[in-house]
Amino acid sequence: MLYRPFGNTGVEVSILGFGAMRLKEVERNGQWEVDEDLAIAIIHRAFELGVNYIDTAYGYCHGNSERVVGRALKGWRDRVYVATKVPTYLIESRGDYRRFLEEQLQRLDVDCIDFYHFHALNQERFENVVLKYDLLEEARKARDEGLVRYICFSFHDRPEVMMRLIDIGIFDAVLCQYNLLDRSNEEAMAYAHSRGVGVAVMGPVGGGRLAGPYRLLQQLGGEKYASGPELALRFVFSNPHVSVALSGMNTMEMVEENARIASRHEPLNDEEMARIRTMMREYQKLADLYCTECAYCMPCPNGVDIPTNFRLMNYYRVYGLEDWAREEYRKMPEEKRASACLGCGECEPKCPQKISVRQRLEEVARTLEE
Ligand code: SF4
Ligand code: SF4
Repeated sequence: MLYRPFGNTGVEVSILGFGAMRLKEVERNGQWEVDEDLAIAIIHRAFELGVNYIDTAYGYCHGNSERVVGRALKGWRDRVYVATKVPTYLIESRGDYRRFLEEQLQRLDVDCIDFYHFHALNQERFENVVLKYDLLEEARKARDEGLVRYICFSFHDRPEVMMRLIDIGIFDAVLCQYNLLDRSNEEAMAYAHSRGVGVAVMGPVGGGRLAGPYRLLQQLGGEKYASGPELALRFVFSNPHVSVALSGMNTMEMVEENARIASRHEPLNDEEMARIRTMMREYQKLADLYCTECAYCMPCPNGVDIPTNFRLMNYYRVYGLEDWAREEYRKMPEEKRASACLGCGECEPKCPQKISVRQRLEEVARTLEE
């Protein structure tokens, strides 16, 4: 495993981090539960292979992720850094920050959270939640009391907003989106790095879409790459401003493969980068429907499964899996299909990618119901 300094924190983090947002879940009597034994075995394998950074959040896995991560940390706490996020979207008063922090310390069963993020900051939330309730002061207090080691934020907005937040000078690290398909934060990441702010990235394999069978990989050299994630991860690791890339791993194979890639220093060479740039121009249409399947737009009051519809559309359009996408669409219960959207618009303000969900769902229904 390779390690890099995490901004000016003095901490060295593994370039591969464990993202605990996609642990395998099972539904029991209408309640979602994490398959804990499996999740813990997978997390432990990652730790054994040198991963020393695990990232969770209050809301991940229907609110169960932090507790499972807490269990997985038993026996590893002195070797692994834990990151979690205060749910800024649930904060309604100044006292809420401390209330969530105490609950999260309890769920994780730790005395201190290493990297405590303000979850999903954008300009609006920074002003109307963080500043409004004086949460930077709350964060400082928590750090002074030793409950939090580093103050961080995860980010979904325009790069210039990220730079403004960095300029405040209180943040030790930022977590933002970055992958082959979305390089919009590249300049802001370089800025963060130059200011000694650690950069963690999420979505290194494009919300899973680069992990499937796809033409890009073949056109880039076919056999040469063992898999889609390999190319995607090597691309992210090639950026020296990235300290740690989080991957939402939920199988042993994924952990083994990602750890193997993160253990070799093999940045993409100039020729590979040039081919990627050409290919990306050709595949610009990917950016048109850039759904990361984060599910922030869910639940839809009418039962539409928004991320699944978009995933099928991407497979149809981008990877050319037209019959397969239509078939999968037909297999979905009618109320989950794009055609069941009633156009209420409730989902759209919740989408960090600012996708025009209603318009896009219409397109999905038109295309996949043909
Ligand atoms: S606009 Fe459609 S998909 Fe969005 S919440 Fe309303 S019914 Fe659901
Ligand atoms: S539509 Fe937006 S909010 Fe919904 S899953 Fe996709 S990216 Fe996330």
